[in-house]
Amino acid sequence: MTSSISERITTIRASLPPSVRLIAVSKQVPAEVIRSAYAAGIRDFGENRIQEAASKQTELHDLSDITWHFIGHLQSNKAKKAIELFQWIHSVDNLKLAQRLNQLAQELGVHLQVCLQVKILPDPNKSGWSVSELLADLPALNQCKNLQIQGLMTIPPLGLNDAENLSVFNSTYHLAKEIESQNWPHIKMQQLSMGMSGDYQLAVQAGATMVRLGTILFGERT
Ligand SMILES: *Cc1c(COP(=O)(O)O)cnc(C)c1O
Repeated sequence: MTSSISERITTIRASLPPSVRLIAVSKQVPAEVIRSAYAAGIRDFGENRIQEAASKQTELHDLSDITWHFIGHLQSNKAKKAIELFQWIHSVDNLKLAQRLNQLAQELGVHLQVCLQVKILPDPNKSGWSVSELLADLPALNQCKNLQIQGLMTIPPLGLNDAENLSVFNSTYHLAKEIESQNWPHIKMQQLSMGMSGDYQLAVQAGATMVRLGTILFGERT
């Protein structure tokens, strides 16, 4: 790419509705490049590896108003570390993990914002609830009172065309509405974390409130 990071950020930010939160996915991106994105106005960064995030956060500790978003598959044994490093976890993908995070959030006395990762279509390469599993787990999730459950996150399976991706995003939107209509006291459905570099415009069209963009901001990962 010939344009600078700050030019790309400015262009993409301007193309998004102001209400959509731009999460810059900085996995495999060095700390000094994160610093450039910060200088261009980004305050939300997404990472998918605990260890990598920990070392970059140490290097960037002077940038104290960054919000860190965990977007990868989280193993239970790393849940505590994740809570210490991240304010948001977009990728809570099963009830056991939710319950573990809930307990840790209570013990550590922190507010943790989470999204529930849902698979609208079957996808052996991804974790997450199927729609029916998620609906069945809502009563137990509603008991996780130390989690701030804010909405849903989804990633369409690889290889779909635009119409199929849009349909996944629309289904996610409607699922959130359905859950919202059930009025669980401890489950909010105000956030939809969906859309990556290749499909974020479709996600926004379907009601995404947070897009997770890596390649289009930082270039191809090696
Ligand atoms: C890597 C990643 C992204 C960013 O993907 P790009 O295609 O580089 O924009 C978004 N969400 C998740 C969960 C990711 O792992």
